[in-house]
Amino acid sequence: MERLVILGAGESGVGTAILGKQRGYEVFVSDRGKLEEKYKEVLIHHEIEWEEGQHSEAGVLNADVVMKSPGIPDTVPLVKNLIEKGVPVISEIEFASRYTDAMIIGITGSNGKTTTTMLTHHLLKEAGLNVGMAGNIGDSFAKMVSEEDVDQYVLEISSFQLDGITGFKPHIAMITNITPDHLDRYEYKFENYVASKFRIAMNQDASDYLIYDADDDAIAEGFKKHPVQSKLLPFSLKEELKEGAWMKNGTININVESKTFEMSTDFLALEGKHNVKNAMAATMAALLSNVRKEALRQSIQTFQGVPHRLEKVLKINHVEYINDSKATNVNATYYALEGIKKPIVWIAGGVDKGNDYTALMPLVREKVKAIICLGMDNTKLVDTFGNVIDLMVETFSIEEAIKVAYKIAERGDAVLLSPACASFDLFQNYEDRGDQFKEAVKNL
Ligand code: ADP
Repeated sequence: MERLVILGAGESGVGTAILGKQRGYEVFVSDRGKLEEKYKEVLIHHEIEWEEGQHSEAGVLNADVVMKSPGIPDTVPLVKNLIEKGVPVISEIEFASRYTDAMIIGITGSNGKTTTTMLTHHLLKEAGLNVGMAGNIGDSFAKMVSEEDVDQYVLEISSFQLDGITGFKPHIAMITNITPDHLDRYEYKFENYVASKFRIAMNQDASDYLIYDADDDAIAEGFKKHPVQSKLLPFSLKEELKEGAWMKNGTININVESKTFEMSTDFLALEGKHNVKNAMAATMAALLSNVRKEALRQSIQTFQGVPHRLEKVLKINHVEYINDSKATNVNATYYALEGIKKPIVWIAGGVDKGNDYTALMPLVREKVKAIICLGMDNTKLVDTFGNVIDLMVETFSIEEAIKVAYKIAERGDAVLLSPACASFDLFQNYEDRGDQFKEAVKNL
């Protein structure tokens, strides 16, 4: 019996454990932290062995294959040790994909993964297809494969998941965009991170598709270093294309495999240019999945967006409060500042992953009337924007930030939480940050 060792007992770890057990592996789950109670119960129920508070060498090093959770870097001594010993260390996506024949749509990129994944799933589901959705959303892919096999999966895939693939081959891959993020895990080299994203296409052949942003310089550069075999379907807001998706006079035009589709952006429930791109990508995948145009036109109008992504919370005294807590990097915040057509009181800050704010400078000069810093260390924000913005206030809790914003904002303004940073200094995660924001706004 092969021994499957799982490092990290989160959603993907526990899902992999269940699938591994079902497929006849001897499974051992090891987590250096404490296991959540709900996961303990699942493991006990499935009679899966586990440990917490440590990774014991005796339990781990005798593995035949290791599934490493995305949060654990390759540089951890134990992982290095396994790799040196020649033990395959793979990701959950890799493991689970070995046990399903379903058609896979794999979506990666620095921003827009969740939105595009949910929109693509929505378009296929509304058309009556037997489709599942996994990734960072809800149940893990592995758990879904263990429970119910569907005809098609739409998967949100992070670069960390891609670092751990060997044979994973989506029929339709998407790279929504590539901008600097998570550089702490890539030796602070952007090219390493770009290489990670391109892995989504590395096993594709000429019968597969790669949908990508043709306006994105990093992707264009990436193609030079990482040639792909798949059929290319670009999307662009800037130029007219022969194949793929492009804009003309406010209308989205699509041509994939001789199927054409046109739709005015007025029909999109989602706002912002970035969401036009997300809609183009999702629509192409739906057309490739043989969704009928009429169904597509209907369902694209009913997709309302995802919480914590430019989510409109409330209007108070004609001031709009917008929760974009999921904007954990500079590019996401760029699209938020760009999309909002009002003067902005901008709440920003948190854990900076090596941010360079210069790309925001023109938008900040044009639209931002005040910056409310919300983080343990706001030095970089203050240094960058201190000379540009007259009103900068440092705060250390969301209540404080909202109270200050409430005082500053005037009729017709927007108060925008779009931090450009991770949330772990003051919050559990971005959802906690966004939820606290919404709560504080409702209590005003
Ligand atoms: P991800 O799952 O890749 O983090 P989300 O869909 O959760 O992406 O969106 C994250 C943030 O990026 C949100 O602030 C959202 O408004 C913004 N965003 C969404 N789509 C795009 C895009 N195509 N380009 C840039 N920013 C985007």
